Amino acid sequence: METTAETPSPSGTPGPRPLVPRDDPDALIELHGVTKTYRTGETEFTALDRIDLRIAAGEFVGVVGPSGSGKSTLLNLMAAIDRPDRGDVVVGGVEVSQLSENDAARWRGRNLGVIFQFFQLLPTLSLADNVMLPMDLCDVHPRAERPEVARDLLGRVGLAGHADKLPSQVSGGQQQRAAIARALANDAPIIVGDEPTGNLDSASAASMMALFDTLVAAGRTVVLVTHDRELAERTGRTVTVRDGVLTEQGGGSR
Ligand code: ADP
Repeated sequence: METTAETPSPSGTPGPRPLVPRDDPDALIELHGVTKTYRTGETEFTALDRIDLRIAAGEFVGVVGPSGSGKSTLLNLMAAIDRPDRGDVVVGGVEVSQLSENDAARWRGRNLGVIFQFFQLLPTLSLADNVMLPMDLCDVHPRAERPEVARDLLGRVGLAGHADKLPSQVSGGQQQRAAIARALANDAPIIVGDEPTGNLDSASAASMMALFDTLVAAGRTVVLVTHDRELAERTGRTVTVRDGVLTEQGGGSR
């Protein structure tokens, strides 16, 4: 691995140390020696063990592996929802693993669309208002246009007629699609999702996969944790996590 830590400056003295050694200037998402340990009482459990991973801008990556292997943990670290015990997570040149909780939330709002495994829609807001929430929080799209953008996004996920319903008035699959629409609301360059097709029937799953393809074609970087073999096969690259270790980084079907 190339490291520029000792790179001399023109004057011959050591130059400034970069945040992390880089060996791939095209990487958008970089994990360097990332370890995450959970503590429950006296017990320690290493959920991720010295993970190195680089994802370039515009890649469509599927994260696969058995249940409990560390996939969600990996996604949460990339999204700065959680912090590693050791190692660095650098996204777009920002060492997100060092951000405070507030700064991480602000950074996420500008850079990431997150599709959570359990949707996390606010139960008292309509689907349209749920989708508008990130626009309000991150101040994207002119205020007057936000309701229309939210309805368009709900239309893209097949929920055009459901914009005014509460999450409890639609099915689990429809809630999941609303959560996908919400992840697109801030127009972020990176979309990460945890089992985004987990609750969908096969027709809805197929249309969401086509939507992810469209996002990638438009230059977005998409990273999805999935058990869905069909979705994994559609990605450009799959990364396998097993017992907290990346066991394989293969090319996908493209
Ligand atoms: P996956 O997404 O592959 O199912 P996770 O990343 O959710 O796996 O979890 C990896 C391991 O870490 C599992 O054994 C899980 O029980 C454990 N784990 C996850 N979150 C916590 C937590 N907050 N506290 C304790 N253990 C956790």
